[in-house]
Amino acid sequence: MRCVVANWKMNLTKDEAQAFCEDLLGRMAPESEAEVGIAPPFTLLHQVSDLVRPRGLQVFGQNGHAEAKGAFTGEISMPQLRDAGCSGVLLGHSERRQFFGETDVALAKKVKAAWQWDLLPLLCIGETLEQRDAGQTLDVLAQQLAILAETGPGPLWVAYEPVWAIGTGRRAEAAQVREAHAFIRTELNRHLAGTEYRVPILYGGSVTPESFPELLGIPEVAGGLVGGASLDPRKFAELVKQAG
Ligand code: PEP
Repeated sequence: MRCVVANWKMNLTKDEAQAFCEDLLGRMAPESEAEVGIAPPFTLLHQVSDLVRPRGLQVFGQNGHAEAKGAFTGEISMPQLRDAGCSGVLLGHSERRQFFGETDVALAKKVKAAWQWDLLPLLCIGETLEQRDAGQTLDVLAQQLAILAETGPGPLWVAYEPVWAIGTGRRAEAAQVREAHAFIRTELNRHLAGTEYRVPILYGGSVTPESFPELLGIPEVAGGLVGGASLDPRKFAELVKQAG
Protein backbone atom coordinates (compact mmCIF):
# COMPACT_ATOMS: atom_id res chain seq x y z
CA MET A 1 0.00 0.00 0.00
CA ARG A 2 1.32 3.45 -0.93
CA CYS A 3 0.15 6.62 0.77
CA VAL A 4 0.29 10.29 -0.21
CA VAL A 5 -0.83 12.91 2.28
CA ALA A 6 -1.16 16.65 1.63
CA ASN A 7 -0.27 18.90 4.55
CA TRP A 8 -1.82 22.28 3.72
CA LYS A 9 -0.49 23.83 6.94
CA MET A 10 -1.98 27.34 7.45
CA ASN A 11 -2.96 27.84 3.81
CA LEU A 12 -6.12 28.18 1.69
CA THR A 13 -9.53 29.70 2.18
CA LYS A 14 -12.96 28.16 1.56
CA ASP A 15 -13.10 29.09 -2.12
CA GLU A 16 -9.53 28.03 -2.73
CA ALA A 17 -10.12 24.68 -1.04
CA GLN A 18 -13.25 24.13 -3.14
CA ALA A 19 -11.36 24.84 -6.35
CA PHE A 20 -8.45 22.63 -5.25
CA CYS A 21 -10.64 19.62 -4.45
CA GLU A 22 -12.65 19.88 -7.67
CA ASP A 23 -9.47 20.17 -9.71
CA LEU A 24 -7.76 17.28 -7.87
CA LEU A 25 -10.73 14.93 -8.10
CA GLY A 26 -11.06 15.71 -11.80
CA ARG A 27 -7.48 14.62 -12.34
CA MET A 28 -7.53 11.47 -10.19
CA ALA A 29 -7.97 8.14 -11.94
CA PRO A 30 -10.79 6.13 -10.31
CA GLU A 31 -8.64 3.00 -10.39
CA SER A 32 -5.79 4.56 -8.38
CA GLU A 33 -4.77 2.25 -5.56
CA ALA A 34 -2.90 4.86 -3.54
CA GLU A 35 -4.22 5.83 -0.12
CA VAL A 36 -4.64 9.59 -0.42
CA GLY A 37 -5.13 11.99 2.45
CA ILE A 38 -5.53 15.74 2.90
CA ALA A 39 -4.75 17.60 6.12
CA PRO A 40 -6.48 21.00 5.79
CA PRO A 41 -6.67 23.74 8.41
CA PHE A 42 -9.46 23.14 10.94
CA THR A 43 -11.84 25.67 9.37
CA LEU A 44 -11.89 23.64 6.14
CA LEU A 45 -12.28 20.14 7.58
CA HIS A 46 -16.05 19.78 7.13
CA GLN A 47 -16.01 21.16 3.63
CA VAL A 48 -13.02 19.13 2.44
CA SER A 49 -14.27 15.91 3.97
CA ASP A 50 -17.71 16.36 2.33
CA LEU A 51 -15.96 16.83 -1.01
CA VAL A 52 -13.29 14.13 -0.95
CA ARG A 53 -14.46 11.30 1.30
CA PRO A 54 -17.08 10.09 -1.21
CA ARG A 55 -14.11 9.47 -3.53
CA GLY A 56 -12.30 7.44 -0.88
CA LEU A 57 -9.78 10.05 0.23
CA GLN A 58 -8.96 10.40 3.92
CA VAL A 59 -9.00 13.65 5.85
CA PHE A 60 -6.50 14.33 8.63
CA GLY A 61 -6.43 16.97 11.33
CA GLN A 62 -3.08 18.79 11.61
CA ASN A 63 -3.05 18.42 15.39
CA GLY A 64 -5.36 17.24 18.14
CA HIS A 65 -5.49 17.65 21.93
CA ALA A 66 -5.22 14.69 24.29
CA GLU A 67 -8.29 15.72 26.29
CA ALA A 68 -11.74 15.15 24.81
CA LYS A 69 -13.05 18.55 25.89
CA GLY A 70 -12.52 21.37 28.34
CA ALA A 71 -10.83 24.71 28.98
CA PHE A 72 -8.08 24.60 26.35
CA THR A 73 -8.56 27.79 24.34
CA GLY A 74 -7.32 27.54 20.79
CA GLU A 75 -7.13 23.74 20.79
CA ILE A 76 -9.21 21.08 19.04
CA SER A 77 -10.10 17.65 20.39
CA MET A 78 -10.02 14.21 18.77
CA PRO A 79 -13.84 13.81 18.91
CA GLN A 80 -14.18 17.23 17.27
CA LEU A 81 -11.87 16.08 14.48
CA ARG A 82 -13.96 12.96 14.01
CA ASP A 83 -17.13 15.02 14.03
CA ALA A 84 -15.65 17.22 11.27
CA GLY A 85 -15.05 14.18 9.04
CA CYS A 86 -11.47 13.19 9.88
CA SER A 87 -10.27 9.61 9.86
CA GLY A 88 -6.76 10.52 11.00
CA VAL A 89 -4.58 13.16 12.62
CA LEU A 90 -1.02 14.40 12.04
CA LEU A 91 0.90 14.30 15.30
CA GLY A 92 4.35 15.62 16.13
CA HIS A 93 4.96 17.59 12.95
CA SER A 94 8.31 19.34 13.37
CA GLU A 95 6.59 22.74 13.14
CA ARG A 96 4.48 21.74 16.15
CA ARG A 97 7.56 20.50 18.01
CA GLN A 98 9.64 23.57 17.07
CA PHE A 99 7.14 26.47 17.34
CA PHE A 100 4.59 25.12 19.83
CA GLY A 101 6.79 23.14 22.21
CA GLU A 102 5.19 19.78 21.51
CA THR A 103 6.98 17.11 23.55
CA ASP A 104 7.19 13.33 23.28
CA VAL A 105 5.35 13.10 26.61
CA ALA A 106 2.41 15.07 25.17
CA LEU A 107 2.57 13.07 21.94
CA ALA A 108 2.22 9.75 23.73
CA LYS A 109 -1.03 11.06 25.27
CA LYS A 110 -2.22 12.37 21.91
CA VAL A 111 -1.58 9.05 20.15
CA LYS A 112 -3.61 7.24 22.81
CA ALA A 113 -6.40 9.82 22.52
CA ALA A 114 -6.45 9.41 18.73
CA TRP A 115 -6.92 5.65 19.12
CA GLN A 116 -9.61 6.17 21.70
CA TRP A 117 -11.57 8.20 19.12
CA ASP A 118 -10.81 5.86 16.25
CA LEU A 119 -8.47 8.23 14.45
CA LEU A 120 -5.33 7.05 12.66
CA PRO A 121 -2.27 8.88 14.00
CA LEU A 122 0.31 9.92 11.38
CA LEU A 123 3.32 10.41 13.63
CA CYS A 124 6.03 12.70 12.24
CA ILE A 125 9.63 12.19 13.33
CA GLY A 126 12.96 13.56 12.15
CA GLU A 127 16.22 15.18 13.09
CA THR A 128 17.36 18.80 12.86
CA LEU A 129 20.44 19.73 10.84
CA GLU A 130 22.44 20.20 14.04
CA GLN A 131 21.48 16.71 15.20
CA ARG A 132 22.41 15.20 11.83
CA ASP A 133 25.74 17.03 11.78
CA ALA A 134 26.44 15.77 15.31
CA GLY A 135 25.81 12.18 14.18
CA GLN A 136 22.67 11.89 16.34
CA THR A 137 20.08 11.12 13.66
CA LEU A 138 19.35 7.52 14.59
CA ASP A 139 19.34 8.29 18.32
CA VAL A 140 16.78 11.05 17.73
CA LEU A 141 14.56 8.75 15.68
CA ALA A 142 14.78 6.02 18.34
CA GLN A 143 13.87 8.51 21.05
CA GLN A 144 10.89 9.90 19.12
CA LEU A 145 9.63 6.36 18.48
CA ALA A 146 10.13 5.38 22.12
CA ILE A 147 6.69 6.86 22.86
CA LEU A 148 5.37 3.53 21.52
CA ALA A 149 6.70 1.87 24.67
CA GLU A 150 4.32 4.17 26.55
CA THR A 151 1.33 3.99 24.19
CA GLY A 152 1.49 0.27 23.42
CA PRO A 153 0.57 -0.98 19.94
CA GLY A 154 -2.13 0.35 17.65
CA PRO A 155 -2.79 1.39 14.06
CA LEU A 156 -0.24 3.95 12.98
CA TRP A 157 1.44 5.63 10.03
CA VAL A 158 4.87 7.20 10.48
CA ALA A 159 6.44 9.99 8.42
CA TYR A 160 10.21 10.43 8.41
CA GLU A 161 10.71 14.15 7.90
CA PRO A 162 14.25 15.49 8.31
CA VAL A 163 13.58 18.99 9.68
CA TRP A 164 16.21 20.54 7.41
CA ALA A 165 14.39 19.20 4.34
CA ILE A 166 10.95 20.62 5.17
CA GLY A 167 9.98 23.60 3.05
CA THR A 168 13.61 24.21 2.07
CA GLY A 169 13.71 22.65 -1.39
CA ARG A 170 16.58 20.51 -0.06
CA ARG A 171 15.42 16.92 -0.24
CA ALA A 172 17.32 14.25 1.69
CA GLU A 173 19.59 12.09 -0.44
CA ALA A 174 18.56 8.55 -1.30
CA ALA A 175 21.22 7.01 0.97
CA GLN A 176 20.05 9.12 3.93
CA VAL A 177 16.42 8.17 3.33
CA ARG A 178 17.34 4.49 2.94
CA GLU A 179 19.28 4.46 6.22
CA ALA A 180 16.59 6.30 8.18
CA HIS A 181 13.69 4.22 6.87
CA ALA A 182 15.51 0.92 7.47
CA PHE A 183 16.26 2.02 11.02
CA ILE A 184 12.68 3.14 11.65
CA ARG A 185 11.43 -0.24 10.38
CA THR A 186 13.75 -2.04 12.82
CA GLU A 187 12.54 0.09 15.70
CA LEU A 188 8.89 -0.40 14.75
CA ASN A 189 9.42 -4.16 14.52
CA ARG A 190 10.87 -4.07 18.02
CA HIS A 191 8.03 -1.99 19.49
CA LEU A 192 5.25 -3.84 17.67
CA ALA A 193 6.68 -7.39 17.77
CA GLY A 194 3.98 -10.02 17.93
CA THR A 195 1.18 -7.60 17.01
CA GLU A 196 -0.90 -7.37 13.84
CA TYR A 197 0.20 -3.83 12.97
CA ARG A 198 2.23 -3.14 9.84
CA VAL A 199 3.10 0.56 9.76
CA PRO A 200 3.71 2.36 6.44
CA ILE A 201 6.67 4.75 6.63
CA LEU A 202 6.24 7.89 4.52
CA TYR A 203 9.02 10.30 3.59
CA GLY A 204 8.44 14.04 3.92
CA GLY A 205 10.63 17.01 3.02
CA SER A 206 10.53 18.95 -0.27
CA VAL A 207 8.86 16.11 -2.20
CA THR A 208 8.03 17.05 -5.79
CA PRO A 209 6.81 15.11 -8.83
CA GLU A 210 10.42 15.25 -10.04
CA SER A 211 11.86 13.57 -6.93
CA PHE A 212 9.03 11.26 -5.86
CA PRO A 213 9.65 8.32 -8.26
CA GLU A 214 13.21 7.90 -6.96
CA LEU A 215 11.98 8.07 -3.36
CA LEU A 216 9.29 5.46 -4.02
CA GLY A 217 12.02 3.12 -5.27
CA ILE A 218 13.80 3.15 -1.89
CA PRO A 219 13.04 0.16 0.35
CA GLU A 220 10.61 0.97 3.17
CA VAL A 221 9.42 4.23 1.57
CA ALA A 222 5.65 3.73 1.44
CA GLY A 223 4.76 7.18 0.16
CA GLY A 224 5.02 10.84 0.99
CA LEU A 225 3.84 13.56 3.32
CA VAL A 226 3.82 16.66 1.15
CA GLY A 227 3.69 20.33 2.08
CA GLY A 228 4.54 22.88 -0.62
CA ALA A 229 3.79 20.69 -3.66
CA SER A 230 0.43 19.70 -2.16
CA LEU A 231 -0.92 23.23 -2.64
CA ASP A 232 -0.92 22.81 -6.41
CA PRO A 233 -3.62 20.32 -7.48
CA ARG A 234 -1.75 19.52 -10.68
CA LYS A 235 1.43 18.59 -8.78
CA PHE A 236 -0.42 16.75 -6.04
CA ALA A 237 -2.44 14.75 -8.60
CA GLU A 238 0.85 13.80 -10.28
CA LEU A 239 2.22 12.53 -6.95
CA VAL A 240 -0.94 10.48 -6.43
CA LYS A 241 -0.55 9.04 -9.92
CA GLN A 242 3.08 8.11 -9.23
CA ALA A 243 2.06 6.37 -6.00
CA GLY A 244 -0.92 4.58 -7.53
C1 PEP B 1 5.57 18.97 5.57
O1 PEP B 1 5.04 20.01 5.90
O2 PEP B 1 5.35 17.94 6.21
C2 PEP B 1 6.48 18.97 4.42
C3 PEP B 1 7.11 17.88 4.13
O3 PEP B 1 6.60 20.16 3.72
P1 PEP B 1 7.38 20.37 2.31
O4 PEP B 1 6.89 19.29 1.37
O5 PEP B 1 7.00 21.73 1.86
O6 PEP B 1 8.84 20.22 2.58
